[in-house]
Amino acid sequence: MDSLKDHINSLMDQGNLTKQYHTILKEVVFNDPDVRAFLQKHQDELNKEAIMKSAGKLYEFVNEKAKSYDDEEAVVKGHYPQLVLFNKRIHVEYVPTESEIRRQKTLEAKNRMKSFYISKEVEEANFDDLIYTTEKAEAIKATIDFIDQYEKRPNEYHKGLYIQGSFGVGKTYLLGALAKKMSEAGYEVTLVHLPTFTVEIKAAIQDNTVMDKMNVFKETEILIIDDIGAESMTAWLRDDVLGVILQHRMQHNLSTFFTSNMSMKQLEEEHLTHASGNEPVKAARIMERIKYLANEIEITGQNFRNN
Ligand code: ADP
Ligand code: MG
Repeated sequence: MDSLKDHINSLMDQGNLTKQYHTILKEVVFNDPDVRAFLQKHQDELNKEAIMKSAGKLYEFVNEKAKSYDDEEAVVKGHYPQLVLFNKRIHVEYVPTESEIRRQKTLEAKNRMKSFYISKEVEEANFDDLIYTTEKAEAIKATIDFIDQYEKRPNEYHKGLYIQGSFGVGKTYLLGALAKKMSEAGYEVTLVHLPTFTVEIKAAIQDNTVMDKMNVFKETEILIIDDIGAESMTAWLRDDVLGVILQHRMQHNLSTFFTSNMSMKQLEEEHLTHASGNEPVKAARIMERIKYLANEIEITGQNFRNN
């Protein structure tokens, strides 16, 4: 081939094209820098005949490329066209844009994060937006360490945290940030507000869906139980719901987190023991599982909700 220009001119001279088509091909399609670069690159593989057979494809490419700058117009939203050579024929492929790839990733992460009765603000919590204070340093560090260790060795058991502190100090928010990060990293995370869940699970007795409702909490890779101690506990909830979920997670070494206004000691002695009458032994059985699953860390400091 002498030059691309000569080649195109000789293609155009073949005659049997309508004048308008001829003009479009010559001035628009064969003038397009991407088309020219593509033909140049594949000049040894494409003869005149093959190029003319694919002229429609080249036209589609140029047309769709112009539209793809405006996402609303694009033939496949969030995608741009690309020329490819396959079986000695020219084809147009639609490739996702950078922003489309980012959008897909966010969507996939959202699907990996399941949350039950958790506020949107917590679901969207982010480490970059966290205010770091000395009172929170230990909890934040432990949370970040967990993420690091988990990502390094996802097949090993990583003990979770029991984050304790008074109302509004940022317990749930911190674990919301952890949930987001872990779901973006590809792990399945489930957050559940325990006081609301216990109301739901009691209602589920009527329609026999207790087991189904418990399964997700038993099986999920990482579970965050929010506000344990604030629910109205009964012996059934303690032993047959919470106890069963925790037992399963312990046996399968599944990472589990808790937030609570109560310390572990208070939870055991003031809450679990008195779910129904006075049952310190049953409370101790639950506490054993919680302690196996999580290390206790206290957060103090200001109540962010008063800001
Ligand atoms: P807790 O669970 O301890 O009662 P939350 O985690 O719900 O408290 O935090 C209360 C509110 O304070 C959140 O909705 C959020 O707006 C804000 N907040 C919490 N922690 C932080 C933080 N580290 N940096 C900035 N804002 C925070
Ligand atoms: Mg909370």
